[in-house]
Amino acid sequence: MRTRFAPSPTGFLHIGGLRTALYAYLVAKQSNGVFLLRIEDTDKEREVIGATENILRTLHWAGIPPDEGVVLDSEGRVTQRGDKGPYIQSERLAIYQKYAEDLLEKGCAYYAFDTEEDIEHMRDNEKRAGNPAPKYDASIRMRMKNALTLSEDEVQEKLKNAEPYVVRMKIPDGNVVSFTDDIRGKVEFRGLEIDDQVLLKSDGYPTYHLANVVDDELMNIDIVIRGEEWLSSTPKHLLLYEFLGWQAPRFAHVPLLLNADRTKLSKRQGDVAAEDYTAQGYLPEALLNFLALLGWNPGTPQELFTLGELVEEFSIDRIQKGGAVFDTEKLKWLQGQWMRKIPAEDFAKRIHPVVAEEIPAAALDKAFAKKASLIQDRIHFFSESADMVRFFYERPEVDNKLLVNEKQNVTEAALPEILNTLKRMLADIDDWTDEKLLETSKKTAKKHNLKLGQLLWPLRAVLTGRKFSPGATEVAEVLGKEEVLERLEAVTV
Ligand code: GLU
Repeated sequence: MRTRFAPSPTGFLHIGGLRTALYAYLVAKQSNGVFLLRIEDTDKEREVIGATENILRTLHWAGIPPDEGVVLDSEGRVTQRGDKGPYIQSERLAIYQKYAEDLLEKGCAYYAFDTEEDIEHMRDNEKRAGNPAPKYDASIRMRMKNALTLSEDEVQEKLKNAEPYVVRMKIPDGNVVSFTDDIRGKVEFRGLEIDDQVLLKSDGYPTYHLANVVDDELMNIDIVIRGEEWLSSTPKHLLLYEFLGWQAPRFAHVPLLLNADRTKLSKRQGDVAAEDYTAQGYLPEALLNFLALLGWNPGTPQELFTLGELVEEFSIDRIQKGGAVFDTEKLKWLQGQWMRKIPAEDFAKRIHPVVAEEIPAAALDKAFAKKASLIQDRIHFFSESADMVRFFYERPEVDNKLLVNEKQNVTEAALPEILNTLKRMLADIDDWTDEKLLETSKKTAKKHNLKLGQLLWPLRAVLTGRKFSPGATEVAEVLGKEEVLERLEAVTV
């Protein structure tokens, strides 16, 4: 299968766009096929500088780089691989012009010389006559300045004088277009209420519709996977395929992404740019896993999928028709899951520079990996790691309120006694390991008729100064006996 991702560089890659790219990637890879990238930059006015690089960076970051089309070199510059691509539509103008001419010759398209004022005038007139949504269609084209109303000589004259023109598609009146969408099943459009679509603009650029159809044909795309917002363009595309004598590809229109209140996912309610998520420190594994499940379900309870597993399991017929709610809690949960799955050694390596930046003492710490291993289950983002290990390097300021814990039955009144018990117990331990510390704590608690938490909560609080941290005995082992006793001594309750 050959699939494509065909974004317009009119802004930064939307999170929904990344999902579309992922689905197209998965479908291609399941058949050892090709996933290509095509930059649809035919609307120069809406183009945003840096958008193409942003799209590429994000696809590479996510681990779903294109096989053909624009690719990045190791320095991050836009380049091409082999003799394929790059597929940037603005570099292919002559191709679209050729097919526009084909359509003109076949009588499926015509030159139109109307100025913007002419069109506005027509719209005003129509509105006044009670037509609220006037279109340049079969009922109106005969009143306009185009090759269907002008004589052949007039047309030639205008072309010779380089008068601005567009090429419009001649949409048949009252046509019924139907097709079977891979996700939505049979879709039918009756009595096409559409404009005679402009195919070639006066600046010589094609519109999205012409360039998109021509390229999907020339690039041998088997299935067009794209957002639901393009569904209404599909009848025009199908007509173009028919006019050009080509067989249309399959289509799969993926459902919209929704906010929790089921409105269309919008910036006002959260982040929508894919790079917002990379900047927050989401792991590519977590974000891809999340996006895969936004609108697709595996039909089993499995929730964690590697990219390889997604390639195996993914299927278009398990994509839902209805909108998919963007559940940020689920994303965060997946992030935590994927954080834990990073091999411990790797995890330590990845957080080390982040921590060393904030805590210089960590830079040369040979025992850093051990400390890292204690926090891996407890953070969601690498950026939280420095705060989570700081107490290993710096004595924390301990707020006495933190030592008290009603749930653990640690009252203010009981604290002095508990701290004394701890000091005595710890001073007697020689085999300073987590296991031994825990075992001794259990025995001591029993002897003093305390719950284990009544001993370990205050100990942990004293050593870390934090509400959440690795366990008391794990921390104590790493800090060493002397340091632990000193931290306990320093507390006055
Ligand atoms: N250029 C369109 C976009 O920006 C592509 C739609 C399609 O995939 O056909 O999404």
